Parts: sequence; C-alpha cells; structure tokens
Amino acid sequence: MTDLPDEHDTEDAATLAFYAREAVAYAARRETGGHPHLDRFIARLGPGAAVLELGCGGGHHAQVMLEAGLRVTPTDGSPELAAQAAALLGRPVKVMSFVQLREEKRYDGVWANACLLHAPADALPDIISRVWRALKPGGVFFASFKAGDGPGRDGLGRYYNFPSHEGLEAIFRNSAPWSELTLETGSGGGYDGVERTWLAVWAVAGVAEGQT
Ligand code: SAM
Repeated sequence: MTDLPDEHDTEDAATLAFYAREAVAYAARRETGGHPHLDRFIARLGPGAAVLELGCGGGHHAQVMLEAGLRVTPTDGSPELAAQAAALLGRPVKVMSFVQLREEKRYDGVWANACLLHAPADALPDIISRVWRALKPGGVFFASFKAGDGPGRDGLGRYYNFPSHEGLEAIFRNSAPWSELTLETGSGGGYDGVERTWLAVWAVAGVAEGQT
C-alpha cells in the first residue's frame, strides 16, 4: 500500500491512478434513490445560477443541474473521468486539480460532492479558502466527506482525509469567513461497498473584514 501524502502534496497520486484505471466503470454507475442534497442545492440556487463543480466524476450531477437550468462548469482532476463526463454532457469538462482553482467572486455556488474527501489533509484549508474566493458574497458551498479519526486509505487504495465532525468544522471556520456554516451527519456506502458515516457541509460565503 502506498504511503500517505506528505505536507507538500496537493493531491494523491495513487487516488488519481485509481480513478484513471476505473474511469469507465466508475462513470457507468447510476445513483439509486436520488440525491436529496443535490435537490436542496438546486432549489436554493435556482435557474441561471453560475455553479462550479469540483471532482465531477462521470458528470451525472452536472447533468441534473444543467437540466434544472443552472449554468454549470464541471471540473475534475482526473483526465480520464473528465473525458467520461464530457462524453455524457456533450461539452468540454476542464481537467483541474482542487489547488488549481484561482477564480475570484465568479460563482453563486460550488458543488463538491464526495471529492474533497480525497484532498490531502494538509492541503484542505487552502482549498477551502480558494473555494471561498471563487464564490460571490452570499454564494453557497456544498461538500461531503467520509468521517473518521484522521487520514488513511480504503481497501481500494484511495486516500481519504477522514475528518471528525469537530475537526472538519474547525477547518472550515479557520479557512474563510463563512456567514453560515452547517454540518449534517448521515450514513451511506461508497464504491468500496463499505457503509460509513458521512459529513455534509453547507457554507455561505460572508464578506471578509475590509472587503466590499
Ligand atoms: N462528485 C462525483 C460524485 O459524487 O459521483 C465523483 C466523486 S468520486 C468519489 C471523487 C472524484 O474526485 C473523482 O472524480 C476524482 O477524479 C476526483 N478527484 C480526486 N482527487 C482530485 C483532485 N486532487 N482534484 C480534483 N479532483 C479530484
């Protein structure tokens, strides 16, 4: 098993190698039972909203958001999965690692379902700050994580930051001035078939001191 990333790593090579190998099978999966968080995100933003999707995988959530009239920019750090998403959506999908996000005040919402859980723990605060900068004031950020007691790998070799509820809340609070921050706990499976506790984070971009 590969070592865990060190403090200088901004992405995990073994995790991206997994998604490169599995891209076709991963993208062919279909969600059963809908996605209540996605429904809430869409309802909260409304048609015409500009949305950045991080780690879009096979592009299924982007497809739902596009069908609902949102203006979605899907991205993924895996060229292979970005290609799968582009084929599904019939439009280009940007290959972008989380730390390559450099836009400012551009989006009404950022959707990051089950992807920032692969960000190396030491890189996560900077990535969250980048998301805050990319949002317009009042913009909504959704991200979901597998809960745990610190970084590790699953049985498939993928890296997870596995934060605790309190730890994740502190990382968000210390990374950017959110005007609202809510964490919800639930349970669910994953591609490895293991049932785990999930943490869903809803954050609204506030205005930093001295910023207009
Ligand atoms: N969001 C999709 C969903 O909910 O079905 C895909 C989730 S999948 C568990 C994780 C995704 O994160 C993969 O598409 C993977 O390529 C992407 N990913 C992993 N590390 C990344 C990184 N450093 N930068 C951008 N995307 C990354």
